[in-house]
Amino acid sequence: MGVQYYFDNYSPVGDITVVGMCLVIFVLIGTSYVKKTKAFGVYLNIVIYLFLAALCDLFYHTIYTFITDGNYTLVYVMRLIYHALLFSNLLLYVVYIVVLERLERDKKLPVMILSTLVYVAVLVMDVVTAIQGKGFRLDASGKTISGKNYFLLGYLLFMTIILFLLFAYRKRVFRRVMLGFYGTILISFLVLYAQGRHGQSSFTVVSFLFPAVAMLYIVHSTPYDIETGSVSIKALEDMVQYNHKRNRTLIYMSLYLPDMDEEGRSFTEALQDTIRRFSAEYFKEAVLFQVSNGHVVLFARESKNPDYERKVHDILAAFQIEYEKFRFDYKIVMGKSIREISEKNAYVSFIKSIHQRMRINNIYFVKPEDVATYEEYEYILNELSDIHKKGDPLDERVLAYCQPVFNLKTGKYDTAEALMRLNLPGKGMIFPDKFIPLAEANGYIHNLTEIILRKTCEEIKNLIREEYEVNRISVNVSMLEMREEEFTGDISRIIAESGIPEGSIAIEITESQSENDFMLLKDKIGVLKNKGIKFYLDDFGTGYSNMERILELPFDIIKFDRSLVLASDASKRSEKMVGSLASMFANLEYSVLYEGIETQGDEERCVNMSASYLQGYKYSRPVPIAELRNFFSKAGKNTCIFQ
Ligand code: C2E
Ligand code: CA
Ligand code: CA
Repeated sequence: MGVQYYFDNYSPVGDITVVGMCLVIFVLIGTSYVKKTKAFGVYLNIVIYLFLAALCDLFYHTIYTFITDGNYTLVYVMRLIYHALLFSNLLLYVVYIVVLERLERDKKLPVMILSTLVYVAVLVMDVVTAIQGKGFRLDASGKTISGKNYFLLGYLLFMTIILFLLFAYRKRVFRRVMLGFYGTILISFLVLYAQGRHGQSSFTVVSFLFPAVAMLYIVHSTPYDIETGSVSIKALEDMVQYNHKRNRTLIYMSLYLPDMDEEGRSFTEALQDTIRRFSAEYFKEAVLFQVSNGHVVLFARESKNPDYERKVHDILAAFQIEYEKFRFDYKIVMGKSIREISEKNAYVSFIKSIHQRMRINNIYFVKPEDVATYEEYEYILNELSDIHKKGDPLDERVLAYCQPVFNLKTGKYDTAEALMRLNLPGKGMIFPDKFIPLAEANGYIHNLTEIILRKTCEEIKNLIREEYEVNRISVNVSMLEMREEEFTGDISRIIAESGIPEGSIAIEITESQSENDFMLLKDKIGVLKNKGIKFYLDDFGTGYSNMERILELPFDIIKFDRSLVLASDASKRSEKMVGSLASMFANLEYSVLYEGIETQGDEERCVNMSASYLQGYKYSRPVPIAELRNFFSKAGKNTCIFQ
């Protein structure tokens, strides 16, 4: 590689290119979202040093042409500074790779010591030869005498260290990133070679620039999703950590559209436009992160947006106008960064824990107490995941409770509903409202159903063996798990394995609004009904019932929700309405079960409204499944009398 060159030959093209490119990089960094990592700090220095080196090179070659008195001291000094800047750059590249490869202390120390030694040695030699007048010189007429040159030696030593680092620890960096480095270094060598052939020098800085351009693209850029203007969620962690370390408060706003959140779906174009506009218009320096198809979160620094409360007010007002247009169901959560959540980098799951508790089409402002609730949520989620992972079919943490159901026809308690509880170490009993939505949202619900079903089957087997009259016990099943392919197979297998009659298990399901679900339900109910399993329609009266669909599904028992029991007490008119609904079902050969019977009055009204079964606190709260023995009667004995 010839580094022989002449001042007369100098062309500023290379240096000007570098100055321009560095400015472009600064603009890119300023306008795109860049993760503020340690490596990025080093990277920024690399670009700054390159920028200065190019300026310096330009400068001393320019002043050289103005010197007429043969005193070239300034040129010598500037040239030394130029070399120092270039070697600082090489040193920074070494640091950069060390940081990127996350080298341990014992591995990084020798490399850093060696690099620093080379760095110091080359610069000292440069100065010494300059003072001794043995190095690069210009004679009185301005002609170059190259003399001793340690630049090339230093450069080669540094390149050796860099290539060693890249090769020895290549496993530590994603392979394609590595290939990017190798490629750009190769191009740098070629450029150096080419400039040597043409007696040029200003392309040296250019060759240093190539890796910097590659790094910006490969390592530091976090591409925007052009449509919504959002950044991948991975960058959120860095933003949170960066600001947390500097004690800066962040404000955030999360928009969740459940309908858009399914696989294969995404925001419509009009919605994308709105989101992009919203995130840019209101908050200064806000970054929008896409969590999932239907979930975006906007983060900004509080200090940059001192009037953020007013802005929140404006944005919500604007949102309402948009909502009138789009009419998608939504959940909005907003708040400020909280130390515990920042430390765990857990904003996404924190926000999800709030979604779990809030109603649809609502806006929630995070309160400090939410952290405690979140920690409980996290704990339960961990346990659920552990229960799932362990796969113990009779896991002790999942408890089967049962609420006996009074059968008006037989005058006995011979059926019951199985209700799930969790008994978690250190937490005690957890009720379904705390964990069922969580289990559903995270795909653990079917696993829990299987455990409850198995425990229920086991207990039925015991009760039958002890000659108790067990008509059947119903188990609650979530619509989500019915969508799973293995559903019917799993249910029939568990019942078959326990050896109890299939008819002693019933399944409770609630209505679903979706047309797809309806078709699917119809098929699956059919399969299980053929085996003798009965089906209950749960919570009738709580949603918008589609009578046509209900009648098309082969339910055996309609469970009237407690709200209907209460309604029937409110006025004669409502009592008539509930009564006629019930008698219509009874005429169609369904059995009607009233839930939530608490008082004598409830009981009397329901008995007069075509009831076949009664369930509620008046008879019993849910009890551990083994205690069903206190309610069920043994064959031949007449223990239970209608109270
Ligand atoms: P659900 O299926 O409607 O269950 C009836 C709920 O009403 C039970 O609450 C029961 O304790 C309560 N209840 C019973 N009698 C009365 C009464 O007289 N008055 C009042 N106010 N309430 C009464 P629980 O056990 O907390 O269960 C709540 C919900 O959690 C259940 O509602 C069901 O949707 C769900 N769930 C419970 N166990 C399971 C399960 O194993 N699987 C699934 N997928 N969901 C379950
Ligand atoms: Ca139920
Ligand atoms: Ca119910």
